[in-house]
Amino acid sequence: MDRARLTPLLAAERTEHRARNPGSWEQFSRATHLFTGVPMTWMTNWAGGFPLALAGARGARVTDVDGHEYVDFALGDTGAMAGHSPLPVVDAIRHRVETLGGITAMLPSEDAEWVADELTDRFGVSQWSFALSATDANRWALRLARLATGRPKILVFSYCYHGSVDETFVVTASDGSTLSRPGNVAPAIDPSLTTVAVEFNDLDAVARALSTGEIAAVLTEPALTNIGIVLPDEGFHLGLRSLCDETGTLLMIDETHTFSAGPGGATRAWGLSPDIVTIGKAIAGGIPIGAFGLSDSLGRSILAMVEDDQADIVDVGGVGGTLAGNPLSMAAARATLSRVLTPEAFDRMIALAERLTGQVETAITSHQLPWSVARVGARSEYRFASPAPRTGTESAQSEDGELNEFLHLFLSNRAGADHPVPQHGADLPGHHSSRRGPARSAVRRGPRPPGGVISGPDSPPAGQPN
Ligand code: PMP
Repeated sequence: MDRARLTPLLAAERTEHRARNPGSWEQFSRATHLFTGVPMTWMTNWAGGFPLALAGARGARVTDVDGHEYVDFALGDTGAMAGHSPLPVVDAIRHRVETLGGITAMLPSEDAEWVADELTDRFGVSQWSFALSATDANRWALRLARLATGRPKILVFSYCYHGSVDETFVVTASDGSTLSRPGNVAPAIDPSLTTVAVEFNDLDAVARALSTGEIAAVLTEPALTNIGIVLPDEGFHLGLRSLCDETGTLLMIDETHTFSAGPGGATRAWGLSPDIVTIGKAIAGGIPIGAFGLSDSLGRSILAMVEDDQADIVDVGGVGGTLAGNPLSMAAARATLSRVLTPEAFDRMIALAERLTGQVETAITSHQLPWSVARVGARSEYRFASPAPRTGTESAQSEDGELNEFLHLFLSNRAGADHPVPQHGADLPGHHSSRRGPARSAVRRGPRPPGGVISGPDSPPAGQPN
């Protein structure tokens, strides 16, 4: 990489970002009562030093307060995978709130069993509970996994991301030991006491860790998607399932992002058989939700322990939340799953992502760049590494914050009402550990990897306004 050339090019794009976005800059500068100038500190993680301020979003398009329209390749980092404000979801929300009434009541609504039944059909496991975020779904399911197995630790893969779940902020050191992840905010206890981190695709390391008998659950995404996309080797998931079976360890699959693989996520698309599935974000069209599903046998064994007074799952035992399972989330999830994220919508999204990924691949090859691009269904990201990384650590090492920021700004600075261009994807050029800035959608999301994405449809799912 010719830094002597890149550095001034980036400086020019930053200057342009400031000049073409006076409204966004003003909103950011005036927000003196927002910690770091944004409603959630993640939103500062944006190319150019300040985020675009959202005016509105519909389908696959986002408009900022300066009147620029962008094609959104980030889609709220999957939260808006169904497109922004899909009309069936808007209608269902209005019906729930205006016609029926009842946003939070701590009472079950009829939609809940419909949603759980649909998730069972899609993901295989049959006993579902709801949360308000995928983070909470993971937290609560991990507690239940420790309860069911009587084991204290979990296993995750280095550079995984499963939400702000204490046990998961770990990486694998070069000697194979588990370390607290750089930047981990004041952990209550050293996470190497609760967690073993090994490299993705390293079944030998998984086998060694599980042989100790102290691991309650392996928690993984089907492919890592938060450090670019790191795809599983052939046979990796089969090996993982076998090792879990041999050692009585639960297999917990986080489909929050890999839902992009199809209507039943990678679990169905790749034939996985988890004991626990967690998900959130997209399943309610952008309304807060999280969900975890347990296999029938796991659900029964937990209930037996509860009946035996070994744990409290109905009051203050550490599983649950006041607004969880609320009727608004349930109505939005039913509308999303029945009318928006349908099998037909996935067919369309995946075909578009295939096309886009193919074109990115062609560009990489024709320019002989040492980069790669990987795809899970409708989600796609590029990395500054070739061949594509096989582990989270390799992928982290390929990050280039400066290059990433340049690519994001180059695209967003050229967007216009007549000629919308992809605003960096939700993951297009990622960021994450590098303080770069990727632009994704006007609404930035969380920790991101440097890689580029290309996530989601370049036009909204079927039935959505473009
Ligand atoms: N699981 C995965 C795989 C994720 O990528 C994320 C967030 N990016 C989460 C869980 C947590 O989602 P949320 O921030 O909505 O709780």
